[in-house]
Parts: sequence; structure tokens; C-alpha cells
Amino acid sequence: MLLAGCSGFSLAGKLVEDIVTQAQTINFKRIIETKRRELASAIRAQTAGIAIGDSEHDPIDQMQSMKLREEHATRLGQLSRILAQVDRSLHEISEGSYGLCAECEEPISLKRLEIIPWASYCVRCQEYLEHRASAERKAA
Ligand SMILES: [Zn+2]
Repeated sequence: MLLAGCSGFSLAGKLVEDIVTQAQTINFKRIIETKRRELASAIRAQTAGIAIGDSEHDPIDQMQSMKLREEHATRLGQLSRILAQVDRSLHEISEGSYGLCAECEEPISLKRLEIIPWASYCVRCQEYLEHRASAERKAA
């Protein structure tokens, strides 16, 4: 006989909806893998943008291409950081530790993962780290 009403039970006092389930993890994995492919091709495009443009001799062209290259480099840095997070999430999925904050090891809320499936930190730690980073920037 099948047990009815199994959904919505709580696990060790935690609401099930707050914890990433196996099915959700599989779903997130798919999203993350798609993102990884997007990032890889975006990184290739940005890398090409940095490499192209060595033939200008006009100083204005050179300045512009230098500025462009700087923009490509900045963008490349951002993409690489996201790629590192994406790779880390995929690793965590394979290890079975997906959805835990890298700082406090508490589960990252499902709402947050739905927005950023490759998030490494819970909202609280993310805010704390950003606050600290901007404070360090101001101090420098
Ligand atoms: Zn945390």
C-alpha cells in the first residue's frame, strides 16, 4: 500500500522546501552546465578581442584598441571568476555537497540558488564578503 501525503514532511526540524532535493540538484546541474558552455564561448570571444588589433599604427587607433583591450581584460576577469564558481558548483554536485555555503557551511536558500545556481555563499556571507571587499578597496 502506498503512503499518501508524504510530501511536505520535515527533516530534522528543517522545512523540506528549504533544502535542495536530488531532483532540484539535477535541474540546477543542467542550468549550470549550460552556463558553463556560455561562459566558455564568451571567454573565447573576449580572448580573441584582446589578441586582435596589433596592426594599428595610428596613435588614436592604438589608444582606442588599448581601451578596448582593457575592457576585454576586465570582462575576461569577471567571466573567469564566474567560471570558477560554476566549476566549483559542478564539483560540489558530484561530491554531494551542493547548496552549502563555502563560508559558514549552512544551506544556501533555494530562492537564492534559483537566481544564482552557482552561488558559493549564502546571502549573509556574500553581503559580509562584499562589504569587506569594498571596505578594503576604500582603504587602499
Ligand atoms: Zn554563509
